[in-house]
Amino acid sequence: MVRIRTKREVDLIATSCQIVADTLNMLADYVKPGVSILELDRKAEKFICSKDARPAFKGYMGFPATLCVSVDDEVVHGIPNDRILKEGQIVGIDCGAEKDGYFGDHAKTFSVGNTAEEKQKLMEVTHKSLMMGIEAAVPGNYVSDIGHSIQTYVESFGFSVVRELVGHGIGTELHEEPQIPNYGKPKQGYMLREGMCIAIEPMINLGHKDVKTDSDGWTIRTVDGQASAHFEHTIAITSNGPKILSQSVKNG
Ligand code: MG
Ligand code: MG
Repeated sequence: MVRIRTKREVDLIATSCQIVADTLNMLADYVKPGVSILELDRKAEKFICSKDARPAFKGYMGFPATLCVSVDDEVVHGIPNDRILKEGQIVGIDCGAEKDGYFGDHAKTFSVGNTAEEKQKLMEVTHKSLMMGIEAAVPGNYVSDIGHSIQTYVESFGFSVVRELVGHGIGTELHEEPQIPNYGKPKQGYMLREGMCIAIEPMINLGHKDVKTDSDGWTIRTVDGQASAHFEHTIAITSNGPKILSQSVKNG
């Protein structure tokens, strides 16, 4: 069932989204060579709890941490551990929070120090593709119009869209209907309506689109070993168009 949220509910989702946006904003200063991923996770958990919220991923289907941290060829769902970030890596950080029964979900990919030009381009195109997907999220359009915009843009640069993982509705659960693929033909699936809240999250590979799951049961990585980037926003669909709820008011 696709849920239509009241103004009050959208405000509650927005509050949780602000917490995740501020968490990633806070972490940005620490994403640099020599920092351990576990340290980032601890800082995020402390920050979220200080806002009277709880980390939404921790315990979700048994996931053990606050953040998903995915380095280079890891696409999403990397488990924080004591690995140390190194110059030249790119690192996707995905964060969820729940407060007063409502969820927010947001992800960004960061450079660790100076990174190769092709990785920078991958991040830039992935971020822009998220923005193009968001632009398509207007009442009267269809779910697949979002993915169609993303895929068309991304493939024009020779990058590829991961198929196995998708965006989703969000609200009183972290993952709700509908699924929001990052690819597809236009005008398919549910019609978008005012009051729907969705998380759009392109996962874009530098090389081939295929991915595999590590033996830890969580980490998704590219089959060809090339880098992948991930950006995600939670948005509300309004009569005035899409409203990004997970944008940090402090710093974009
Ligand atoms: Mg996420
Ligand atoms: Mg998500």
